[in-house]
Amino acid sequence: MKKDGLFHASTMLTFDTPLSSIGSIKKPTLSKLAHLDIFSVHDLLHHFPHRYEDYADLSPISDLVPDGKYTVEGKITSLQAGRTWKKKMFLTDITVSDGSGTLRALWFNQRFVAQTLREGMHVRLSGKVSRDKQGLSMTNPAYERAERDATHTGRLVPIYPETRGLTSRFFRWQLVNAFKNLKDFPDPIPEDILKRLHLPSLKAALYYIHFPESKKHELLARKRFAFEEMFFVQLKALQIRTLYEKSAATPIPFDEERIKSLVASLPFSLTDAQRKTSYEILRDLERPRSMNRLLNGDVGSGKTLVAALAAFSVAENGLQTAFLAPTEILARQHLESITRFFGKSGQSIALLTKSYRILDGRSVTRTTLLKALAAGIPKIVIGTHALLQDDVIFRDLALVVVDEQHRFGVAQRAKLQETSFDSHDGSPATIPHFLTMTATPIPRTLTLAFFGNLDVSIIDELPKNRKPIITSVALNDREKERVYQFIREEIKKGRQAFIIFPLIEESLALKEVKAAVVEHTRLAEHIFPDFRIGLVHGKMKSQEKEQAMEDFKNKKYDILVATAVVEVGVDVPNASCMIIEEAERFGLAQLHQFRGRVGRGEYQSCCFLFPHQQSPSSESHEGQNRESSRENERLKVLATKHNGFEIAEADLAFRGPGAFLGTRQSGLPDIAMENLANLKLVEISRNEAKNILKSDSALKKHPLLLDALKRFEERIHLE
Ligand code: ADP
Ligand code: MG
Repeated sequence: MKKDGLFHASTMLTFDTPLSSIGSIKKPTLSKLAHLDIFSVHDLLHHFPHRYEDYADLSPISDLVPDGKYTVEGKITSLQAGRTWKKKMFLTDITVSDGSGTLRALWFNQRFVAQTLREGMHVRLSGKVSRDKQGLSMTNPAYERAERDATHTGRLVPIYPETRGLTSRFFRWQLVNAFKNLKDFPDPIPEDILKRLHLPSLKAALYYIHFPESKKHELLARKRFAFEEMFFVQLKALQIRTLYEKSAATPIPFDEERIKSLVASLPFSLTDAQRKTSYEILRDLERPRSMNRLLNGDVGSGKTLVAALAAFSVAENGLQTAFLAPTEILARQHLESITRFFGKSGQSIALLTKSYRILDGRSVTRTTLLKALAAGIPKIVIGTHALLQDDVIFRDLALVVVDEQHRFGVAQRAKLQETSFDSHDGSPATIPHFLTMTATPIPRTLTLAFFGNLDVSIIDELPKNRKPIITSVALNDREKERVYQFIREEIKKGRQAFIIFPLIEESLALKEVKAAVVEHTRLAEHIFPDFRIGLVHGKMKSQEKEQAMEDFKNKKYDILVATAVVEVGVDVPNASCMIIEEAERFGLAQLHQFRGRVGRGEYQSCCFLFPHQQSPSSESHEGQNRESSRENERLKVLATKHNGFEIAEADLAFRGPGAFLGTRQSGLPDIAMENLANLKLVEISRNEAKNILKSDSALKKHPLLLDALKRFEERIHLE
């Protein structure tokens, strides 16, 4: 980029012009902008306001009423600036007159205001009016010279998320400059699409979002950007999909008779949903293209067996499966169930985690296990992250199964997928088939928006013998005491109970331990003094956790107090009840997952939700009451609904996609996030994406789009 002349107003900017080459933006400001990922003119223009102040009408000063928000215009009749002697603050104090009356305006610690304004100048002020002994005034109002076009005042004034000391005023100012000096707004969205969907061009939309003259403008702009982002998401998803479609994988012939006889040997019959999804997967594996499929099913719906059938089919063909679990406890549980399912089939099964190396039921050294793996001996290898280490080499890896996929990072998944399947026979290298499983039921709309690159198989049915878990919300101390009493009686009958309380953020791990210990003590001393109470929390070593779980399973404890670490896994059929404390802090889907930990045995099970906020008490705030009763309404969904997918839909409706998925986790921009649940938008975007890729798969004919897509990719990480 040439430097000379760039700073003159007449100089053309482009989207790519770095802000560092704009003379008026100083170094410290540049570094603040960098923290917001704003480096270029393009980035600046795509930093959207999060709301607008409505200052559209000018008011005569005589009409102002205290506490209202107004825009006024008038002449500065006096100006004083200096330090207040009492508070040592820098104060700018002006009086403005418009003929109908006078108004004072005060700014604290904003020296530059005094430097910009002069007596006799015409100014426009926007802000909230208050009244004191000296009359009407505005404190720290937005201001500008009245001769100028209304930028900061006199309209819908954009308010930017003000971070790291960058004010909305700064952004508005820079944006005005950018619009003035930017001649070209190359639009990545082809014109025919915009026409078809009645969307504004990029230039119009950018202008509308930063300087709307009406609410209608703003909405039009948002509509365009919502489409744009969803369109990018779908383009990316479809491209990834095509890539998998192109990647060769080893076809796994589906021996229906063999699988049927194996299934017949199980102690139960498959549910219809298990049958259907197994079939989908086994058929998919037969193709010479890499399968990339998500298996989505409720807790306890029997996903393990479905995945295990796929692994079995692979094993029958002499090839290997890597079966990844997020924790050691779960990995061990998978080993147990898979051994139970297929133990008699004679297939070799192994487990590799940090603390366990097991080959066909025997403990071995790591070296022995790695050698066996490399020789292709164990056909089903279950493990944790430990399986992803560089020296772990498979001979014939043909299928990768990932349980609870959200717990593995994108990078780790990519690594797995890249693990190429060594070709001993000189045939071209292939990549493994890929099956990921999640127990977080994802509403249909989100599936398409989020996992548009995957095929999805859904298990929406539980095995027949399951009794729904009776669920209720305890609203006050009396109800809580009744729950405690109920649990005491259950324990006396020989049952066990879980008491779950929220996981405190990881960074507060020490606090979590403390909270766990405090809770444990409170329960042990005051509530259940006659019973044995165990404890697991996130900071325990996995061996210790495992030991505590094991002890609970072996009935050494009557009650297990746990932070959210027990979210997944652990079958304890004798545990029939559960209390979840501060339940409102969890998503419904997650609560539903927790309660799936009970009700695994023959007993009728119960789950009690204890919201933190007590409702309704006389001292508490009205707003708080409303909030907590809405929370309780949300929690009560669990009392009536037992299907994870319905629950997820309800939670989505209550909290919106952002809270539902966790914004940070998704990495998606806000506008896309807000619109994830907008099925129509998702479908339209997907169709347009399909359409364009059909005639131009590499987007060679759409260089602007290709470019924008690259930028987009840098910003987000698609699952
Ligand atoms: P999840 O989908 O939560 O991973 P699991 O695969 O752990 O569920 O299955 C939960 C339990 O249900 C396991 O003990 C499993 O053996 C059992 N199970 C699986 N399928 C069936 C079935 N069709 N009928 C009865 N029990 C089943
Ligand atoms: Mg599972």
